[in-house]
This record gives sequence, C-alpha cells and structure tokens, in this order.
Amino acid sequence: MQVAGVETLEAYATATASCTRCRLAQGRTQVVFGAGNPRADLMFVGEAPGFHEDKQGVPFVGQAGKLLDGLLAGVELRREDVYIANVLKCRPPGNRDPHPDEIESCEPHLFRQIELIEPKVIATLGNFATKLLSGRPLGITRVHGQEQELTIAGRSVLLYPIYHPAAALYTPAMLKVLESDFARLPGLLGEAEQPAVVAAPEPEPVVAAPAEQLGLF
Ligand code: URA
Repeated sequence: MQVAGVETLEAYATATASCTRCRLAQGRTQVVFGAGNPRADLMFVGEAPGFHEDKQGVPFVGQAGKLLDGLLAGVELRREDVYIANVLKCRPPGNRDPHPDEIESCEPHLFRQIELIEPKVIATLGNFATKLLSGRPLGITRVHGQEQELTIAGRSVLLYPIYHPAAALYTPAMLKVLESDFARLPGLLGEAEQPAVVAAPEPEPVVAAPAEQLGLF
C-alpha cells in the first residue's frame, strides 16, 4: 500500500483498497472507504462496516443506513450532500466491536480523509467515533447533542456527537432523541460557515474635554 503524498480523496481511496494494517484485512470482502461529497461541509463518522456494507463497499446501506437516510431527509439533506465514513474501514467478524489495536491501525485513514475533505462539522455516530475524535473517554449518553470546537487533522472543526442510528433499531424511543439531535445540524452548519467573529478593538478612553469653567465673577 503506497499512501504517502496522496493528494486527492479518490487516489487515497484507491491506495487504501489494499490495506493490510490489521487482521480485519483477512476476513473482509473489500475495504469500505467512505462515500459522498468529497468537499462536504458535513461529515458523518460511524463505527465499522457490517454485512451489507462489506458486500457492497458502501457505508450505511443496511438497516441502520435506511434510518440514517430518513434522518438526513428530515433535515433536507441527501447522502450526496454529506460525506459518510467509519472509524474502521473493514468489517469486524460477526459485527463485533472494534478492538483498540484495530482502531489505532485504521485511524490514519480517517484523519487523512478529514484532512482531504476539510468538513466544517463532523457528526460522530455512537461511542467509538465520538471517543476517537473527541480524544476523551466520555460516552455518547453523556455528550450527544453537545457540539464542541476542536482541532482535528490540523483544522478547526465543530464536533457534534449523535447516537448511532442502530440504537433506534434496538430502542425505538431513541428515534426521537436522534431526530432532535439531527434537527440542530442545519443551524450548526450555518454557524460553522460564519467567519469567526473578530473582537472589536477596545475603544480609546474618551478623554473628556475640561468642562468650560464658568466664570464665577
Ligand atoms: N454501522 C456503521 O457504523 N457503519 C456502517 O457503515 C454500517 C453500520
């Protein structure tokens, strides 16, 4: 795999297709690099490909993906407007949780994607993406819906943790929470597009002209 100096997302995806950085390379059908608009302002980062993603080579095409499509449509976004990737690019056997060494091996791919896409807002879906990109151990239950400004891959981005859509497959009530967190996305994107507010310089202290001395006599 030759990835040093690769300048476009497409070329990086091609270079990554033969990745053997971790054991998951042995069981995969293919690397699921990511999909969507390579210049997107909004990027989603999920956990890892599942059965259908591994077969089709596209992230979020199974049941959780259908939910994601619905949540996107609810805020008038389509897949083509955003970029969707995962922490792991290869399917863990039986859809088990990612192992720490697999995350460590795969994270350069995610950080390079972020560098090349330059999103303004990164919505992390679930615990694994949230912990990796926030660099903090706080779980999704604590931090969902709370944006934070961070420097990731050398750029300032708004990190916005959201529950993984699969959570609503197991707990239907979670759909309401997901919908209300998604509802804030257009506003966060608008905010991130504003140029940073430069503090107005402190006004010079006004030196009062000496009051005209009224002649007393
Ligand atoms: N879950 C994920 O986190 N990513 C996918 O691509 C599919 C399901």
